[in-house]
Amino acid sequence: MSNLAHYLLNRARSHPVSPAVTGNGRTLSFAELGERVLRLAGALRGKLGLADGDRVLICMENQPEFFELLFACWAAGLCTVPVNSKLHPREVSHIVGDAGVRAVFTTDRLVADLAPELAQQSPAPSITVVGSAAYLSLLNEPPARCVERAPTDIAWLFYTSGTTGRPKGAMLSHRNLLAMSWIYSADIEHVEPGDTKLHAAPLSHASGLYGLPHLFAGGHQVVLPGFEPDLVFEAFEHYPRVTMFAAPTMVIRLLQSPSVRAAHRGLRTLYYGGAPMYVSDLQRALEVFGPRLWQLYGQGESPMTLTGLAKRDHVGDGSADHLARLGSVGVARTGVEIRVVGDDGHDLPTGEIGEVVTRSDCVMAGYWNNPDATRNALRSGWLWTGDVGSFDEQGYLTLRDRSKDLIISGGSNIYPREIEEVLLRHPAVLECSVVGTLHAEWGEEVVAFVVTRPGTKVSGETLDELCLSHIARFKRPKRYLFTDALPKNNYGKVLKTALREQLRAGA
Ligand code: AMP
Repeated sequence: MSNLAHYLLNRARSHPVSPAVTGNGRTLSFAELGERVLRLAGALRGKLGLADGDRVLICMENQPEFFELLFACWAAGLCTVPVNSKLHPREVSHIVGDAGVRAVFTTDRLVADLAPELAQQSPAPSITVVGSAAYLSLLNEPPARCVERAPTDIAWLFYTSGTTGRPKGAMLSHRNLLAMSWIYSADIEHVEPGDTKLHAAPLSHASGLYGLPHLFAGGHQVVLPGFEPDLVFEAFEHYPRVTMFAAPTMVIRLLQSPSVRAAHRGLRTLYYGGAPMYVSDLQRALEVFGPRLWQLYGQGESPMTLTGLAKRDHVGDGSADHLARLGSVGVARTGVEIRVVGDDGHDLPTGEIGEVVTRSDCVMAGYWNNPDATRNALRSGWLWTGDVGSFDEQGYLTLRDRSKDLIISGGSNIYPREIEEVLLRHPAVLECSVVGTLHAEWGEEVVAFVVTRPGTKVSGETLDELCLSHIARFKRPKRYLFTDALPKNNYGKVLKTALREQLRAGA
């Protein structure tokens, strides 16, 4: 059974009355969800005339219908292209053109801006507004049978967030997502019917991807319209055994909320990742949420699955070893090979910093329609992640940075993350980001952008002293630029390219 849709339909048979998806004040049982999936699948092939492998783009704010659309496409043998609803209509249109999308599902709020952009594509895709009369009529079509798929058929075209250039479509097969799901159960937690997966982060990315293993096990997906700390805390009280994904910026916002409490009854697992989680933030999170935190390191090209820092790894005595562990991204996930290599592809000794490469059933088949980028990323069966890191003796990986963010000053490599970790130790520093900028003498010089906590102040001199007492002199920032906010993409990742451009423009 290669088609991912089978695993949901199995639950519709085994646990028909268990809650499957809740959102917009309504809950669907697994039987109801299964039926909607098969009716929609029939409509996609019949009324919409789509054929095997056709791409269907889903661009919507978090709505419960996301899951029925995803599984309906798979049951119908189609390939989904979920994208972030906050993308600019032009960015969505670029993806529609790049992927040759034939049908788009979107919402009331987004359609007015999207439609004129998409109309310029040739051929223009059909557009259906979720919840509209047209959508409801699709649900009245006779149910289809779930078609067979090969394990290598593409299920999800995952467009990278494009922090370092035009987004590329990572081709994720049914096998990739099934492997991702098994590994979730092997490493993170065993899910029982009725357990809750709370979605407060965009479903087009980490939160939606990890909805799959949860649904396959009969778990209940609770979809919040967006990320609002009060709604999250309410859900922790209301639902049993809640697991939730939060990007590090979301964890920080939860910690800053006046409603945060030391105990959250229903919270079982808060898994975080997708961007660096700095040690000082993680320590605060542990004080509040206790040993319920699980860190994952993944990327669209190997969804959710490279390494992980388990709950037990978070527990410790604050010693230097413990802090080093908290600063790591953990160990290779089950069934995943991870190596740290030099430019020539040879393994580096423990402790040495090089590029992280990986091989597993999760690794994408390549980038859609982009053989050059594919050749660069996939070499002899290994995915080159573009991340730079090192292993310790126990096999814990510490990421330094994206290789493109590395700063080379006076011939020495400087890893911004190391400096950021130090700056964040100062109580007045809320967020910071360190980048390199061109310098006539040194090649590059180190610049720190700093956001202070509301009502606090700190000088560049004080931060300079802090750096001098923790890291080598040559690594410390030569300039501190205080700012109200850091530029971030829709998933909360700091856009270092934007900071570098800002510096170039200023110079
Ligand atoms: P994306 O493909 O948009 O999910 O971005 C993946 C990239 O985010 C990775 O290649 C890393 O650079 C970064 N990333 C993901 N997880 C972590 C983590 N736990 N710690 C630090 N960086 C991370």
